[in-house]
Amino acid sequence: MAKLTGIQIQKLLPKTNCKECGSNTCLAFAMKLAAGKAELSECPYASEEAKAVLGAASEPPVKGVYFGADKQVKVGEETCLYRHEKTFVNQTVFAININDADSAEAIEQTLDSVAKYELTRVGEVLRVEMLAITHNASAPEALAAAAENAWQKTGRPLILYSSDVKALAAAAAAVKGSNSLIGPATPENAAELVEIAKANAHALLVTAPDLNALVALTGKLKEDGFNDLVLQFQTSSLAEQFQANSIARKAALKTAYKPLGYASINFIKSGDVMDASVAAITEITKFGGICVLPEFNKAQLAGLMALRQNIYTDPQKPIQVEPKLYAIGEPTKDSPVFVTTNFSLTYFIVSGEIENSGLSAWLVIPECEGMSVLTAWAAGKFSGASIGKFCKEIGLDNQVNTREIVIPGYVAQISGELEENMPGWKVIVGTQEAGDIESFVKARFAQHLK
Ligand code: SF4
Repeated sequence: MAKLTGIQIQKLLPKTNCKECGSNTCLAFAMKLAAGKAELSECPYASEEAKAVLGAASEPPVKGVYFGADKQVKVGEETCLYRHEKTFVNQTVFAININDADSAEAIEQTLDSVAKYELTRVGEVLRVEMLAITHNASAPEALAAAAENAWQKTGRPLILYSSDVKALAAAAAAVKGSNSLIGPATPENAAELVEIAKANAHALLVTAPDLNALVALTGKLKEDGFNDLVLQFQTSSLAEQFQANSIARKAALKTAYKPLGYASINFIKSGDVMDASVAAITEITKFGGICVLPEFNKAQLAGLMALRQNIYTDPQKPIQVEPKLYAIGEPTKDSPVFVTTNFSLTYFIVSGEIENSGLSAWLVIPECEGMSVLTAWAAGKFSGASIGKFCKEIGLDNQVNTREIVIPGYVAQISGELEENMPGWKVIVGTQEAGDIESFVKARFAQHLK
């Protein structure tokens, strides 16, 4: 069936604009459906005709699955193969593996590390989103005990992994409400596991010896009405995993092949930190849904988190900070005033350099649509007139006694125009590079340093 446009889809919707689907109008919802960013089931009033016509055509090519009590951890819902085409949507989720046969002390240490780990980077707080509990203990009840403990201590949704169906059933029930992932469901035990997953509102991790068997299994599960699935490919090398992830994603996006239209999971087994990092990097860059790391390693996570953040940032929407007047340190009304753009990287580098110089200051951040200094200036978003207007809007004259404002060295040419637009103010041309701010501050504002 040819892909329907938003307008064609809207004709099949009730057109009451009741907003219950989360969109303001039926047309807006139809546009989301057409873009594969919503599911028809989100409209409670969709007619049987709409369901029949839209059916599979309205489903996102990669099924979204949500984890956690508040369903904040999401996988799937991707619509493009390459980041530059549009944007990747739901970032590869990181999980740390725990074996229920490990010592209580080792398990507690990992739980504690995961619960406390936070990395703040360009204004975003990055965390490990999930925990995997692999059942290796001889006692079947060990899985449920470890799962309950992990859920209570970290609040992270879990991946419960065991071939013992009874152990899995007990653990799934113990963490009901966590919206976790259980498995592995195989062609042999899938029917039983579906019932356990349904009874406890969990999703299902499915696996099979090869892609053909996996396709048959996901097709059957969907036909039977269970569609919250995550795929585990049985691969034995980095190259095979890369290939399987790529085949599945291409099939889902380019040919709308539903049996492979799910996020994937990979348990990284290597105990070598470099090998494990390479495997994780492959997951982040090549379509991995959930990446389970074999152990908690702060240094490894920092690099992986930064890479993931970069890959999953919308290339068309630079990360921005809120336009306003920022206090750096503990400025008084007489402290120096700086101005730069609201591109996150620019803001964090400039504010960090001012802070590192030991100066307390004010930093004016006008609206520049997230552009860097020279780009914003070239686009007319960082001019003397626009900065002057913004300073007026935030009432800068009343907030500080200072009447000097430092502009980035790259836009020295706007100093005259800015002075015209900020009567009574003197414009000081600062440094071109943020790395020179410290020496600039020491030379220019020594009297303000403690
Ligand atoms: S819930 Fe259905 S009827 Fe209501 S606005 Fe959304 S699409 Fe329209």
